[in-house]
Amino acid sequence: MKILIINCGSSSLKYRLMNIETEEAIADGLVERIGLDASRLVQKVNGEKYIVDAEIKDHNDAINEVIKALTDKTHGVIEDMTEITAVGHRVVHGGEKYNESVLIDESVIDYLTEISNLAPLHNPANIIGIKSCQKHMPNVPMVAVFDTAFHQTLKPESFIYAIDYNLYKNNKIRKYGFHGTSHKYVSNKLAEVLGKDLKDLKIVSCHLGNGASLAAIKDGKSMDTTMGFTPLAGVPMGTRCGNIDPSIIPFLITDCGYKMEEVSDILNKKSGVLGISGVSSDFRDIEEAAENGNERAKLALDIFHYRIRAEIGALIANMGGVDAIIFTAGVGENSPETREECLKGFEFLGLELDKEKNKVRGKIAEITTEESKVKAFVIPTNEELMIAKDTKKLI
Ligand code: ADP
Repeated sequence: MKILIINCGSSSLKYRLMNIETEEAIADGLVERIGLDASRLVQKVNGEKYIVDAEIKDHNDAINEVIKALTDKTHGVIEDMTEITAVGHRVVHGGEKYNESVLIDESVIDYLTEISNLAPLHNPANIIGIKSCQKHMPNVPMVAVFDTAFHQTLKPESFIYAIDYNLYKNNKIRKYGFHGTSHKYVSNKLAEVLGKDLKDLKIVSCHLGNGASLAAIKDGKSMDTTMGFTPLAGVPMGTRCGNIDPSIIPFLITDCGYKMEEVSDILNKKSGVLGISGVSSDFRDIEEAAENGNERAKLALDIFHYRIRAEIGALIANMGGVDAIIFTAGVGENSPETREECLKGFEFLGLELDKEKNKVRGKIAEITTEESKVKAFVIPTNEELMIAKDTKKLI
């Protein structure tokens, strides 16, 4: 069975055609710079790249290019789209309605349209992606898998902000949390690796990529997470600021003379480790600069680690303990330094890092000693597989 996974970002589209029986990718692709100049599609099949430079105005054009590439006579992997059994769409925001993945019908699209203001950069792109796929594959079932769904188990004391309650009731302002598919995948994988029931584990999952969020998972359910109303909240990230004093925002406008769109741009695109270091948003560049004596790069990493440690501590306290801490996504899977720094200070809980084992990159590994009371693991995330499995289940 072939399942197509579509992930529409604000100006990009990632896709994977997956064989669900073998859980392997038949083709992987990325459409970049949608709506900008020099847009292109790059498709990878068995390590071979197929590159298409084309004018791609919107996500509709992007889907057209994806279909052309998948069915291309020379570089494609299927004859036509009837070979595809189902499509799984990653949708960023499912609001308060969806606590799990759902088969897409008109009412789902209506609800996603209604809550588009909660994720203005992403949900409209997701909706275009869904509608465009429906046009090309009218009889193929489609499933929406939400980034927010896993966190719908949060309790009010965790998801309500300490502002006028009517802003929650009338305007839906609350913590939603994101990266849910990833946190769910790695926590399930951990239970599998440990040979335990997920319900018997207390886990802190650290998804550290360009975007970063942590989640506390108890009884198999998300009970708290660091991202909030939007993916801007929580720990500092590649370019996003994470939690800051909210008074900084009116101050930037009234005292520093920025317009609202500029403030949003600063906090989303020019902050985080890029903003502090002035070097890059890519952790490899920052680690290299810090090693070469760049003080601001070192400060950016120190702040990143400090804030993650603080969040790990808070999540453990509210969960009443912890059995295991997971590191995943680009930085979490590949940076031994980050893992070591983030785990410093938890020795009092009986956590003992094994520095040799911690040298691992990009594969499942326990990184604490045999004796360690609290375990730490590297578990590579696989959101695409999770989306494909949910899609198969629902069709
Ligand atoms: P996203 O999906 O949020 O775009 P990823 O999970 O792909 O992000 O993570 C991207 C980040 O992972 C980049 O900042 C990159 O620098 C970092 N990364 C990748 N490999 C390494 C490495 N070997 N050491 C440190 N950071 C790494």
